[in-house]
Amino acid sequence: MAATGQLKPNQFLLEVAGMPGGERITACIQCGTCSGSCPTSYRMDYTPRKLLTMVRAGLKERVLQSEAIWLCASCYSCSVRCPRGVVITDLMYALKNLAIQQGFVPKKAVAYNFYSSFNRVVEDVGRLNERRLITRFALKTDPAKLIKFAPLGLKLLVRGRLAVFPPSLKNKKEFKRMIARGKGGGGK
Ligand code: SF4
Ligand code: SF4
Repeated sequence: MAATGQLKPNQFLLEVAGMPGGERITACIQCGTCSGSCPTSYRMDYTPRKLLTMVRAGLKERVLQSEAIWLCASCYSCSVRCPRGVVITDLMYALKNLAIQQGFVPKKAVAYNFYSSFNRVVEDVGRLNERRLITRFALKTDPAKLIKFAPLGLKLLVRGRLAVFPPSLKNKKEFKRMIARGKGGGGK
């Protein structure tokens, strides 16, 4: 369940400052170089510069519910150009982790659901399966998209660009063990 209410400004700032990427957040001078360098900021609800101000202002709920943190493409342009050494890319990861751990991610968040659907499909079949990905993503965000995507899906099927039963991984058991080990869940 998503947490509600707003923490005192210093509480959220301290929480973020203690995470990898957050160490130099108070050194930000709001120059905007990060936002100007960001290839995806035009789609973000809050630019990287604004997001930093919001963290410093303690706007926990708005920051952790924002779509912006999921639109970061991890290109590091902002980090290498920041004159104050703020590693914004790592900060974005820290915010994503907090959002998941503390239940702030909106249920129908588009970018988050795309990533999680992608991961789930790869974990299930050992490789990307477009049909499963789109179906899962649409069901999680907006089932009406399935109808919208249907003509395109049919066209791709007819042209052999989309397999009805795409091949699965041969040694799925070993793959699942590997994933479990990566998640720290054992899997001998
Ligand atoms: S580039 Fe660095 S100093 Fe400038 S606004 Fe972004 S984080 Fe702050
Ligand atoms: S690392 Fe993320 S926030 Fe920074 S410039 Fe690239 S996409 Fe934008």
